[in-house]
Amino acid sequence: MRGKNGELLCCPVCGLPLKREGSAWICEKRHSFDVAREGYVNLLCSQRSSQKTRGDDRLMVRARREFLERGYYGLLRDELVRLMQEKAPRIWLDAGCGEGYYTSALQGALSASQGVGADISKEAVRLAAKRDTDVIWVVAACHRLPVGDATLEALVNVFAPTAEEEFARVLKKGGWLIRVRPLPDHLWELKQAVYGDRAQPNPPDLPVWEGFHLKEQRACCATTPVLAGEELEALFCMTPYYYTSSAEERARGASLPPMSVRLAFDIQVFERN
Ligand SMILES: [Zn+2]
Repeated sequence: MRGKNGELLCCPVCGLPLKREGSAWICEKRHSFDVAREGYVNLLCSQRSSQKTRGDDRLMVRARREFLERGYYGLLRDELVRLMQEKAPRIWLDAGCGEGYYTSALQGALSASQGVGADISKEAVRLAAKRDTDVIWVVAACHRLPVGDATLEALVNVFAPTAEEEFARVLKKGGWLIRVRPLPDHLWELKQAVYGDRAQPNPPDLPVWEGFHLKEQRACCATTPVLAGEELEALFCMTPYYYTSSAEERARGASLPPMSVRLAFDIQVFERN
């Protein structure tokens, strides 16, 4: 099977397949990408370190790891595992894998497959790679995945940037895209506590994509037990709202009263035409 040693990843400079040689991935034209000590490889073409290319920073990544380790999003993880076991892809990629919570669970459940975890945040990928050596971890953007055309049998995209054309490019005909978005009332109590009247439900997501058809869509919902202190703060820090918050709102987010929070995930399963 293609995977650990070559012919799955592509050179981000010329597009030719990369082969693992010692501690680097190298293409025929000798473009070379070193494997970091933690085991991941940085295939981002642009090394510029703007906020846009850097992705989630250390604080956010750590908050997410800490919170997810407590298992409150376990229902979503289990649902993704179940769906992927049903599809049984041999080669798959998690686009926007973050610190690898879902990726590692999927690789563990699909041991005969090869998974790739890709995220634009080096910080997140480093943390992911430290924990799990079975997945191929790469630093790459969702809109420029380092794999060839029609190579993947499944693609996972959980609370991450979506790139319709790129996803269509890398998936084989009949391949699966499993995408998770927040439903309108996801984290509603937390948003209300931080933003008060300014709190807005998430906009509904229209799952209509060129090159794909929607096979299944389901809600996966739960309410957390009462969370308090560091746990609540971690949950606030890992949301996209954190970075658009004012100083006052961030201060409020750091001293929230204990509360249960609604979790509401929209799971969309598409098949590549
Ligand atoms: Zn190359």
